[in-house]
Amino acid sequence: MQQHLTIFDPFEGMRFGNHICFLCGTRVTADQQTPVFPAWLMEKYSLGHEPLRLLDQSVVTYQDLKIPCCAQCQTQYLGPLEEKVQEAVSKGVPGLRAIDEKLLFQWMGKMFYGTLITELIKEQNPLVRPEYAVSEQPKMLLKFQSFFRVLQSLRVPMVFPDFIPASIFVIDVDASAEPSQFEFRDELSTMMFSLRLDNALIVCCLLDNGMIKDSMRRVWQVVEPRQLQPIQAAELSARIFYAGYLLNVIPDYLVRPVKPQDEHLVMDTLIDDVTNVIFNPWQHSSYAKLLATMWAKWGITQEDILRDPQEPLSMLFSPEGEFIEFPTIPGQAK
Ligand SMILES: [Zn+2]
Repeated sequence: MQQHLTIFDPFEGMRFGNHICFLCGTRVTADQQTPVFPAWLMEKYSLGHEPLRLLDQSVVTYQDLKIPCCAQCQTQYLGPLEEKVQEAVSKGVPGLRAIDEKLLFQWMGKMFYGTLITELIKEQNPLVRPEYAVSEQPKMLLKFQSFFRVLQSLRVPMVFPDFIPASIFVIDVDASAEPSQFEFRDELSTMMFSLRLDNALIVCCLLDNGMIKDSMRRVWQVVEPRQLQPIQAAELSARIFYAGYLLNVIPDYLVRPVKPQDEHLVMDTLIDDVTNVIFNPWQHSSYAKLLATMWAKWGITQEDILRDPQEPLSMLFSPEGEFIEFPTIPGQAK
């Protein structure tokens, strides 16, 4: 197979370390690194010195979070992608909706993967014995391996003929009264990643072949053209994150046989929905628990949400299913 069409698979033999380019596997020196959160983003939102809590509960600053990356991957692949996304971000929600979803997938995916392999590199150190080792969870590793195969599209020209690996929602939020311009949330096990950049909230599940977005299409049709209040955006996030919990299948990706003249790989995908249900059944109680964490800053508890056990509290839709233009926040006089 042509060199530029060769996929690197660090999960085979767990090749993670400070001397291995995260994207192509080339050996690099310790100073060849790239920040997980791109420099322009850290600068724009003054994140550099802000603390970030990792999976093992250790705290680093955004600027300290770096992964090994060779010069070629940096200049040929990551740099140009950052330029395109930065341009889109500067145009806000319309810019982010106009950009090719595949690029957003790669951009969000690289940050997600960067936080993940920071963890995996740490676990390769025999002196570090984390209580909760990602590298010892075979099911999670299979998921990450599958995800990284399509994230290689950052470097290897790759066509996804009839699917996109992720569900990506670009949500318009009226964040003018919010104390911060930047918010970030990720969840390793469900592969959820969300960022709010001013009025644009991007929420994605990085490995579901768009199944979450498809399952939420009726809600999304109503919500997409509207600008949401922060409390509504938090609810929508909760619904998407909860769908991530319920998702019960892991897409697999296969490369179609390559011919000598091929300039790119064509990927096929496989979902085992014969032996598995795609989504586990929705449970109001566990959804309410998750929503309460998203609504914590409004002081709304799980009990408030489940006051009517059959109909969890919603700031997006009335019990009749109508979109709520101006939600009344419980406990706050209008
Ligand atoms: Zn590289």
